[in-house]
Amino acid sequence: MDLSGIISAVQKTLGVEVDGTAGPETWNAIYNRICRKKAGPPRKTSAAEPAAVRVGARNRVDDRSEKAIITLLPQVQAYARALVNKAVQHGITIKILAGTRTYEEQDDLFAQGRTKPGRIVTNARGGYSNHNFGIAFDIGVFDGANYLGESPKYKAVGALGMDLGLDWGGNWKTFLDEPHFQLRPKWAGDMRESVMLAELRARKDSGKGAYA
Ligand SMILES: [Zn+2]
Repeated sequence: MDLSGIISAVQKTLGVEVDGTAGPETWNAIYNRICRKKAGPPRKTSAAEPAAVRVGARNRVDDRSEKAIITLLPQVQAYARALVNKAVQHGITIKILAGTRTYEEQDDLFAQGRTKPGRIVTNARGGYSNHNFGIAFDIGVFDGANYLGESPKYKAVGALGMDLGLDWGGNWKTFLDEPHFQLRPKWAGDMRESVMLAELRARKDSGKGAYA
């Protein structure tokens, strides 16, 4: 069943008007239906790229998102654009706010809330974040021009991203991170994140690509 089918089915279950467009209540139910079901053990391999992702490779999105998207590996760029466009199709405006960070930039971010002012936003030092390898990005949900730091729509976008084949930070148990998405390399299978990151560091050091 595609997502509009799911929306209609969930609306029927909820007893609300079935129009195939979801409000917060419907999105939460959809989230429960899609994510809870799929959230189990991570997929061993992702299927071939969905058509939406192949299209995403060609379709530029807004300039702010593009600035973050060009820092990602080409494979991931297509997914990021596809997610922005898929969200629009479901009435949700998102932008890609962050992409790849160097180890130095990651260390700077790690210092925030510890040895530098600000609040703690990451538990990862340089080399210990998926953002250091071109495979991860963060989104923001917008209402017109207004950035929404919190919204039930993050869960909805999480469901859309998982539907495309992305890993979603909203499923993480240790550091729940709803704006975060990443494209898991096939070789990573159901490896723990820490093991996958060690392999990503080794690959970076030896010049081997994350998806090679
Ligand atoms: Zn992130």
